[in-house]
Amino acid sequence: MSASTPANVARDAVLARLADVRPWQEDYYRNLHAHPELSHLEVETAEGVATNLRADGFDVRQGVGGTGVVGVLRNGDGPTVLARADMDALPVTELTGLPYASEIVTKDAHGDAVSVMHACGHDVHVTCLLGAARLLAAGRDHWAGTLVALFQPAEETGDGAKQMVADGLTDLVPSIDVAMAQHVLAMPAGHVATKVGPVLAAADSMRITVFGRGSHGSMPQASIDPVVLAAMIVVRLQTVVSRETRPGEPVVVTVGSLRAGTKSNVIADRAVIELNVRTFSEASRTATLAAITRIVNAECDASGSPEPPTFELFDQFPLTTNDESVTDRVAGAFGEHFGPRALSIEAQSASEDFSDLAVAYGVPYTYWGIGGTDPDLYDRAMREGRVASDVPVNHSGYFAPVIQPTLDTGTEALVVAALAWLGNPGA
Ligand code: ZN
Ligand code: ZN
Repeated sequence: MSASTPANVARDAVLARLADVRPWQEDYYRNLHAHPELSHLEVETAEGVATNLRADGFDVRQGVGGTGVVGVLRNGDGPTVLARADMDALPVTELTGLPYASEIVTKDAHGDAVSVMHACGHDVHVTCLLGAARLLAAGRDHWAGTLVALFQPAEETGDGAKQMVADGLTDLVPSIDVAMAQHVLAMPAGHVATKVGPVLAAADSMRITVFGRGSHGSMPQASIDPVVLAAMIVVRLQTVVSRETRPGEPVVVTVGSLRAGTKSNVIADRAVIELNVRTFSEASRTATLAAITRIVNAECDASGSPEPPTFELFDQFPLTTNDESVTDRVAGAFGEHFGPRALSIEAQSASEDFSDLAVAYGVPYTYWGIGGTDPDLYDRAMREGRVASDVPVNHSGYFAPVIQPTLDTGTEALVVAALAWLGNPGA
């Protein structure tokens, strides 16, 4: 660590107050973990966020795109940095046995009772961004510019960022220079990790309905059998990756659901296929979706289907691809601050809607991971070759990051990354 440059002096001065903020953050985290809220329903979470941002001197707008909260701290001339945390939890039953485990049961969008858990660690993201906002507000003598702390609803359903944009986010905050976000992952706590280029996959789900002609099971000549048609489609779809995709290009095509018919001796009149696609470039995304459409249409023709198939896209997430110059600057600042605890990361097949915010502004963005797993547990699992079975991952009922050093690391990462732009007022 070299403390001599103005940016480093600013960083160290702002982070010097972390010890004062830490006990409050840890309490805040435990309480938020015990009180998770599902996507689009983050009402109490948003209220808590807004109250704290106001106390720290931010201009706060609530109810942006549903339950979104935007806090703006103007601090003289300089760049505008947007840092985003997602707020929603999942319909998962918590199995951690922690004293602050969630016991919340609520109604989902269909009116069914579901247990709710912060099983993706968005409670970590909220707590870290509130802490970073507090530190940067208290240390405003050490930087210049504007900090936008954005708390987004409904990441898990892929539509929270889009809804904030549709609800006038870019009128509320007309311009930003850079956007950033982080995610807690199943890697050792205390570490940060990032990479240039594609870091999270684009995801597309598709519901395909193909049509046949129903008939008695004993009279196939009177039918156009949608079960055979759908089966042919499923088999042929396996060639999209194996025969149409360049070896080494990561593409996933999974048929997760196939439904047709009601009874052994009745030939149905339709089949419904639901599939999920993950890709790491716009070109392969376009090519993969086009190949699926072409195969389905051709198989329907081959079967003499009486009606064209229907295609419905849903649960779509954009590609997250880290801008080179922004990410280099942040990774450099991480390297200086975290030393060997700053790692590079492989592209993940998970997906995010954070980039929808940056794309709405037409600005570059960067996204990084922080560790949440107890380092001793991780080391032991690594030595025994049992990481896959012994280290709980996001969306598991056992996924609860260790409070420290996870919160410190996520808070420091946001401060360090923001100050890589906000610079120093004396310069
Ligand atoms: Zn998630
Ligand atoms: Zn998540």
